[in-house]
Amino acid sequence: GKKYHIAVIPGDGIGREVIPAALSVLDRAATLCGFSLDYVQFDWSCETFKATGRMMPEDGIVQLADFDAIFLGAVGYPGVPDHVSLWGLLIPIRREFDQYVNLRPVRLLPGVRCPLAGKKPGDIDFWVVRENVEGEYSQIGGRMFAGTDREFVEQTSIFTRTGTDRILRYAFELARRLDRNHVTSATKSNGIFHTMPYWDERFAAVAADYPDVRIDQYHIDILAARFVMSPERFDVVVGSNLFGDILSDLGPGVTGTIAVAPSANLNPERKYPSMFEPVHGSAPDIAGQGIANPIGAIWAASMMLEHLGEADGAALVLRAVEAALADPSAPRTPDLGGTGKMADLTAAIVSALR
Ligand code: NAD
Ligand code: MN
Repeated sequence: GKKYHIAVIPGDGIGREVIPAALSVLDRAATLCGFSLDYVQFDWSCETFKATGRMMPEDGIVQLADFDAIFLGAVGYPGVPDHVSLWGLLIPIRREFDQYVNLRPVRLLPGVRCPLAGKKPGDIDFWVVRENVEGEYSQIGGRMFAGTDREFVEQTSIFTRTGTDRILRYAFELARRLDRNHVTSATKSNGIFHTMPYWDERFAAVAADYPDVRIDQYHIDILAARFVMSPERFDVVVGSNLFGDILSDLGPGVTGTIAVAPSANLNPERKYPSMFEPVHGSAPDIAGQGIANPIGAIWAASMMLEHLGEADGAALVLRAVEAALADPSAPRTPDLGGTGKMADLTAAIVSALR
């Protein structure tokens, strides 16, 4: 069988708990499906920052460049400002490896309490596609007249033709691949004068190449409301870096799956490694107690297998997660309303793999 080289960055807090749990699931899936995974652990975290002044070594990107994929827990911990952990590790990895797609499933799973009344598993099932390397998240801008009453700050958004078109195209290709043939665009062209009309213009231009795919677009404010009021209507939702960031937490929020949802940072051309992580952060409030829900990391591992071309392994892992969640006698972590430990839920998922 094939062998894949995976860079593992557990990071901070519960990242150090859920990543080993997910690796145990991956190992079992690999055995069952006849491939193997070779892990190299990178102990880059806020601890590293406190000791060295950097989240990762100066040549960190070079060290990661030849792996088939990167598997990340979470970074960020009290004592280190969040912008330091974000801009010191996560954002450089996304940008240097041109991981311009952030892909997150929004799916109502069995056994997860949905905050919306009357919804059952299967009712909500769509994907958020977020532009992940440009847009509103730039370092361009600055502060002038600091500390005076003339003080102001300015922040520049960058929407390149290439960057805009390729994320839109990815969304259309995904819609086709999933046989869903429907793409929704998040916009705000009634308020944001330059970038959002441009986004709409490119959306229309790219859509013209996909006449079989139905399109609609909503301003971000009403779109957020629709995520809550009528989430069943969506299939693939595409947004800029900022709008996609918000929608891709709102989606898991309305399905009750923040601790369960995965996230993939993709370089679809496979020129560079892609990175897979749970949506949640380091959860300092529960770190070290052995009660973190491992499913976000395990589902992220499933997305990683899919990306590596191990579709059977990916499906196997996801089915085992769903089976464990659907089984009322399976252990449940406190966030799922139970009193179980992470290790027991992980073991239940491992034994559901077949
Ligand atoms: P968080 O996701 O860490 O926690 C939010 C809440 O959800 C907490 O109450 C936590 O206990 C709970 N929770 C999260 N994951 C859980 C799990 N797997 N099982 C059970 N409960 C879970 O978000 P936060 O508190 O806003 O952030 C904490 C730190 O994590 C910050 O430093 C933040 O910057 C960082 N963070 C990192 C990433 C990342 O690395 N991609 C993402 C989000 C937050
Ligand atoms: Mn976010």
